[in-house]
Amino acid sequence: MAERSIIEPFRIKAVEPLRSTTRAEREAALAEAGHNLFALDADDVLIDLLTDSGTGAMSAEQWAAMMRGDESYAGARSFARFERVCSALTGFAHVIPTHQGRAAERILFGELVRAGDVVPNNTHFDTTRANIEFQGAEARDLVCPEGRDLALEAPFKGNVDLDALERTLAEEGERVPVVLVTITNNSGGGQPVSLANLRGVRALCDRYGVPFFLDACRFAENAWFVREREPGQDGRSPRSIAEEAFRLADGCTISLKKDGLGNIGGLLALDDPDLAAACRDNLILTEGFPTYGGLAGRDLDALAVGLEEVTDPDYLRYRVRTAAYLAERAWDAGVPTVRPPGGHAIYLDAGALLPHIPAHELPAQALACELYLEGGVRGVEIGTLMFGRVGTGGGPDEPGPHELVRLALPRRTYTQSHVDYVGEVIAAVAARAETLRGYRIVEQPRWLRHFTATLEPLDR
Ligand SMILES: *Cc1c(COP(=O)(O)O)cnc(C)c1O
Repeated sequence: MAERSIIEPFRIKAVEPLRSTTRAEREAALAEAGHNLFALDADDVLIDLLTDSGTGAMSAEQWAAMMRGDESYAGARSFARFERVCSALTGFAHVIPTHQGRAAERILFGELVRAGDVVPNNTHFDTTRANIEFQGAEARDLVCPEGRDLALEAPFKGNVDLDALERTLAEEGERVPVVLVTITNNSGGGQPVSLANLRGVRALCDRYGVPFFLDACRFAENAWFVREREPGQDGRSPRSIAEEAFRLADGCTISLKKDGLGNIGGLLALDDPDLAAACRDNLILTEGFPTYGGLAGRDLDALAVGLEEVTDPDYLRYRVRTAAYLAERAWDAGVPTVRPPGGHAIYLDAGALLPHIPAHELPAQALACELYLEGGVRGVEIGTLMFGRVGTGGGPDEPGPHELVRLALPRRTYTQSHVDYVGEVIAAVAARAETLRGYRIVEQPRWLRHFTATLEPLDR
């Protein structure tokens, strides 16, 4: 059996046509977009790997559930169903829906975090970091040393460095209001966290009396990696692994646009009744009444179904295999990636592929643009454009930590032939890597420049 192909564990009931373009059309579209892939019309993209957030396909059961949506303002049946599913999965006493993950973060940190505080995490996702910094606190990344070495093969590169966490708790004392762990570690390459590591975090949080929250956007993918890689977890159901992970924590925030298998939605769930009451009051200010939290009843129903579907072993096996398969296509083409491949995305190492383009000439942006020009494939630059700092005194920009292009896989959306096609596009670009040129930023905003900057290719 192991020799057989791992197939998509679904068949297709509704289709959405893809629009092909010529290279000349893509060149015009990219120039029009100021060589910023975020500014493209999605219609000009053939295979869109910009993000896995909210871009997946819902199942027939989810669409059917939407018809049962109860749009009552308060006390809707849809909320009752959503609450039941979330409580059974997470075990937390209080279930608070939000319109997406960052709303759950804003509400939680608004109640828990004060100016001058320090919030540890393996690696903060950018909205998590922004919401902590917005409170005047420090978002401190404490991922294990393996997690910082892109090329190293290790099973749990998302793990928290427990020694560093203990030092932080001892040194910062009262200034640590909560410890976070992100599963899987999105900003660290979609790398998983082991149950043993979560138990270690739990023990430290108990010792220092600090609450422990999961940023659990990809709890199901993390559970699959645990089953595949952690000693003693083999053969366990992903659902029971996920349940155990949640029960090690005191609460969680989740973007349900990931493993909720929804196109919109978020969740804040926790045990502390006083904190929950304060969060609900805050929720009413901006999200809505606590039984809908900025979502329609039909969204809550679709999410209630998605949260149960997502731990299906056949789905997770296919999901994680798809990312590994795409990574293998990149390796075949001589393009290094972050290793091992994550659950939701692969990360091409543009710095290694394009050594002739210095960081301040944005090699990862050059690769991302070329993948689009070559085959209409859209990824996202995670390099100096996203994380570098503007150079002082007219000098070159300070580089970001790495020069990566992330290709994120929407859930249940593309077939293996789409993935093969992406592999061919990567290979075609890699074959003429030395001809790629760098880019220059023409205009940029002060914050989060990668979203709206305009660029132009350099001539050389
Ligand atoms: C997507 C994501 C978030 C934010 O969720 P949104 O629904 O986009 O607001 C937070 N943390 C992680 C790890 C994420 O991947």
